[in-house]
Amino acid sequence: MPRHRDPHSPVVHRTARAGLRLTRGQRRRLTRLLVSAGDVWACVLEVNAWRRAHQDVLLVSYQALCRELAVAGPGCFGELDSTGARSVLRRYSDAWFAAAARRKNGDASARFPRRRHWMMPVRWYHGTFALEGRRLRIPVARGCPPLQVRLDRELPYPPGQVRSVTLLYDAGRLWVDVTAEVPVTVYPPGAEPDPERVAGVDLGIIHPYAVAGPGGQALLVSGRAVRAEHHLHLKDTKARRRAVARRAPKPGQRGSRRWRHYRRRQRLVEARHARRVGQAQHEAARTVIGWAVARRIGTLAVGDPRGVLRLAAGRRHNQRTRDWRVGHLISTLRDKAQLAGIALTLVDERGTSSACPACRARVPKPRGRVFCCPCCGQLGHRDLIAAANIAGRLPGGITPAVTAAGVTHRRAGKHLPGVSAARRDPRRRPHHGDARGSPGRHLPAPPAATAGRGVARPTARTS
Ligand SMILES: [Zn+2]
Repeated sequence: MPRHRDPHSPVVHRTARAGLRLTRGQRRRLTRLLVSAGDVWACVLEVNAWRRAHQDVLLVSYQALCRELAVAGPGCFGELDSTGARSVLRRYSDAWFAAAARRKNGDASARFPRRRHWMMPVRWYHGTFALEGRRLRIPVARGCPPLQVRLDRELPYPPGQVRSVTLLYDAGRLWVDVTAEVPVTVYPPGAEPDPERVAGVDLGIIHPYAVAGPGGQALLVSGRAVRAEHHLHLKDTKARRRAVARRAPKPGQRGSRRWRHYRRRQRLVEARHARRVGQAQHEAARTVIGWAVARRIGTLAVGDPRGVLRLAAGRRHNQRTRDWRVGHLISTLRDKAQLAGIALTLVDERGTSSACPACRARVPKPRGRVFCCPCCGQLGHRDLIAAANIAGRLPGGITPAVTAAGVTHRRAGKHLPGVSAARRDPRRRPHHGDARGSPGRHLPAPPAATAGRGVARPTARTS
């Protein structure tokens, strides 16, 4: 299918995942498609194992594999159509050549595809499927009844931009990944991001993004809800593990049915936790980009802390830095910046949280959130000071003035359970000691004192 697009308007590819609303029969058919794709994968592995044993040339190019598939003829792989089967061949070929390239560059740890999978994802390209609103028609082999399924949400892309759909199985559920070609944002004249306007971004655990821009403008995205989610998830996982420790099979021993149920449940919980954190990080990144676009910031300098993360820092801290998912924070921000036409540069963040942006003095890293320079008296939020220093590290960058005048506060993870009083997190214990059940609704805050500060004075009433 030829693509018609303006070569002058740049595009990026973005993927969104949607669940499926399925009948039992549809679920069975889709699962069989994925199993058939796993069969295709296993066939390719077997053909190449046989060829290697006979010192024959391996079949690795996509064209050669497709020829082999055509020779096998239709009907070998159940309801899987040839375009779906070819997508598995494409996956094999890409994986093989990627491994070959890495090995050629001296990476001995790169392995060629060799493992069988019960199910493999299947991808269909534009023109082979039909997507109208939430309805998706999945192509099947000739002679099979049509297969039409419903997505569980609207996709964020107009139908004309969708390039491919991928059916996959993850954490006990069937999903569809929809990839679209999205044009980079075009701004009206005078509103486009200015590359000269630089903002520094400091990545942190309490504040996933702290941004300091020109003119003392700053943004703090709070990640306390995300941290609470990590904490509760870890606690929940530990409790779960303790509860089943007695049933855990010894190495080499087959687990009981209850043990398998536990494993399945654990996978679902892990996947849900990952989705929640990922969603919160996406929303946080979108907040940053929206803030930057409104202030016409054209360059984001991001402090990259990954150099120091390799160092072992103890059990607790290691868990914290793993939960942080800093690579995901960076890549999400980069993807959204690219779509908005904002450049993103990584800079070394070493020492940025322990230097004064005003007088350049080295200051011991503050313990709390408030930074105070003993030399010049500069005050500010610790993460914003670091962000300002990061902006200054960019070649040609100017350290923005850090004043508390224009700090915008936002929260990440507003959807997380337990964030609002309306939705209690079921993983949390009840508040009142051994008392069972919900602590009930929160009491309203006491009325604000109207006269002066502190508590209301009784003398005012008597006069
Ligand atoms: Zn100073």
